[in-house]
Amino acid sequence: MVINLKQLYDIVGEKIALNYEVDIQNLNDLKGYSFSRPITINGAIVNRAGVVTLDYTAAFTLHACCDRCLIEFDRDYSFDFEHTVVRSMNGDNDEYVVTESDKLDMDELALTDCLLQLPSKMLCREDCLGLCPHCGTDLNENECDCNG
Ligand SMILES: [Zn+2]
Ligand SMILES: [Zn+2]
Repeated sequence: MVINLKQLYDIVGEKIALNYEVDIQNLNDLKGYSFSRPITINGAIVNRAGVVTLDYTAAFTLHACCDRCLIEFDRDYSFDFEHTVVRSMNGDNDEYVVTESDKLDMDELALTDCLLQLPSKMLCREDCLGLCPHCGTDLNENECDCNG
């Protein structure tokens, strides 16, 4: 969803509520992660005394494959994000989101925010024992005779 912020920038006190789902099919750069359902966005963009703040919660389910035992699993995530949104800015500052022509690509921003929170290694559980490197037995389920 691309949101036009022109009115929001111009009128103090203006607010746009965000309650929608990001259609994953339309996103191309998922960095190898696979989502089981759309990302649910709930929040608002508000102009408070001329400062535009975006506050939202992103909830989604990731379909992953355990790095150690290769089992596939779904995991739910929910993250809160806050950004200050500006029309333009001098220099670089990661805290701010700069819009082009007053348009905010919310899908893109939400995806970037979410991906930054995800671990690079996905484990089915923190203490997953993985597969035996010799015989391939799933050591979470069975013991094997390879003697580690
Ligand atoms: Zn595992
Ligand atoms: Zn073994």
